[in-house]
Amino acid sequence: MSHPWIAERTRAFDSSGIRKVFDLAAQMENPINLSIGQPDFAVPEPVQQACIQAIQSGKNSYSLTQGAPVLRDKLQAQIDEEYGHADRRVFVSSGTSGGLVLSVLSLINPGDEVLVFDPFFVMYKPLVDLVGGRTVLIDTYPDFRIDPQQVARSLTPRTKMILLNSPSNPTGVTAGEDEIRGLAELAAEREIALVSDEIYRQFCYDTPFVSPARFNDQTIVIDGFSKSHAMTGWRVGYVHGPAEIVDTMTKLQQYSFVCAPHPAQWAAATAMEVGIDQHLEAYRRKRDLICEGLGDRYQLVRPNGAFYAFPRAPWGTGTEFVTEAIRNNLLIIPGGIFSQHDTHFRISYAADDDVIRRGIDVLCKLADGPLK
Ligand code: PMP
Repeated sequence: MSHPWIAERTRAFDSSGIRKVFDLAAQMENPINLSIGQPDFAVPEPVQQACIQAIQSGKNSYSLTQGAPVLRDKLQAQIDEEYGHADRRVFVSSGTSGGLVLSVLSLINPGDEVLVFDPFFVMYKPLVDLVGGRTVLIDTYPDFRIDPQQVARSLTPRTKMILLNSPSNPTGVTAGEDEIRGLAELAAEREIALVSDEIYRQFCYDTPFVSPARFNDQTIVIDGFSKSHAMTGWRVGYVHGPAEIVDTMTKLQQYSFVCAPHPAQWAAATAMEVGIDQHLEAYRRKRDLICEGLGDRYQLVRPNGAFYAFPRAPWGTGTEFVTEAIRNNLLIIPGGIFSQHDTHFRISYAADDDVIRRGIDVLCKLADGPLK
């Protein structure tokens, strides 16, 4: 039963799965927490200072909808230098999430199909449902690779968009250059919007990041500062793509988010100058710690990006296994939250080494079955 005032479209949002996990988690006293989807390092000091200074010097009004020039111009210059596309324009969104919402609102008509790789970031499916689109899942189990030919077979006359996320949340897997190029060329050839969520772009451990925008100048790229500079609460993202599409999103932003938080935009302009190499080094090591710790007791596709690992549950469903892990004080997320399959679980290794080690201990104890 729902309240009579609540609109039909909200039924697209079913958060019961994750709510069950959080209800269980709420009863935990001092959990070994490997569930958090944000970096565990602090916002770099110069970025903090830039925000304080922006506030104290009165950068507290609305900014231009497309973004404060201090940030937007800097982003545009960086993007022009990287891609050199004549028609590529950027605007500053309210987080990467804001960019995703505006992309879907701007491009998807009711009945349009959106291809999403399974497993997927939790927001994608409800967002498509919200605008009356249809999510078509492309199964990437067991290796989480992208096969452009499989994608080609899933195209119909209603396919409007392909949503790509590499490095991926929840798998931590990064698509290789061949996969990205194949997908980018397919989208170009079939005139389908390719939206690339690149929020983990800076978190690549083994091979350099590859954007499909290199191979397809119509790619719509969504990015932001939440993960790169641990600014999840500051809500600064950006979108770049064909000028007319970006202008349409900016128009919708005018009547919805209005602008990204103005002082945080000044801070983001500073963040563009602040490298995070030492954190990446630490995360690469944490990734190795997880892979070595789980060894051959778990089926795990070695993650090479983001800060997640997505092993297969050694017994039971993902949910059953995670319930037992929570009973043993380890907080992880069941894979069914991110997928049509409830067979895996997500570990976030954005945590202290000590917490990771304690998590590995519990996982090793649980590998052969529930504890008595
Ligand atoms: N895309 C992916 C793949 C994510 O993992 C997240 C955050 N968990 C987002 C988008 C949203 O990030 P933001 O804080 O910039 O809205």
